[in-house]
Amino acid sequence: MQIRIHAVEKNITTLGPGRRFGIWVQGCDRKCPGCMSPETWNPKGGTLYNTSELAEMFLHSGCDGITISGGEAFLQPDALAEVIRLSGNPGVIIYTGFLYEELLLRQDAAPLLAVCDLLIDGAFIQKLQDGKNLRGSSNQRALPLTDRYRETAASAGTMPAQIEFFLHDNVTRLVGIPSPEWLERVKKINW
Ligand code: SF4
Repeated sequence: MQIRIHAVEKNITTLGPGRRFGIWVQGCDRKCPGCMSPETWNPKGGTLYNTSELAEMFLHSGCDGITISGGEAFLQPDALAEVIRLSGNPGVIIYTGFLYEELLLRQDAAPLLAVCDLLIDGAFIQKLQDGKNLRGSSNQRALPLTDRYRETAASAGTMPAQIEFFLHDNVTRLVGIPSPEWLERVKKINW
């Protein structure tokens, strides 16, 4: 099975506990004003990976778990569920623009929900952005679907958000949820 991906990054620490393998999926039709990743919107953009290839990358990364952001994860639920299964079912955090209640009504969401430990749900709303950890805006909920990340879920929104940078030969990647002020400062940096 194939999956369309915008980016992957290993050893991220700002989107969940421990050292995590970040997967940013490609494709989102929600177009939230202020979205910090509009380059993930095009459903035909990004890069096609085999699910087994992505799982191998995780298994060789030394990371403790997987965080899936986007883009919209639930536009490719079967492929993501397969990546997680082939990765040995590590701890999984998923960001989605859907509400949990909406996902429960979608049959196609079930395989991915079944392997998700912590769901950060709801569309990003710019005017509710408050610079707090784990979520982009205060309407978003951190819902533990298993016991694995219950403490992490309880801590969402209680601390200042953090960001981190990953420097590669051809790209500098910002990971985390910057406040509007931080995002403006980052945009002014002459890389
Ligand atoms: S759901 Fe996420 S990726 Fe999609 S437009 Fe909204 S903030 Fe951007």
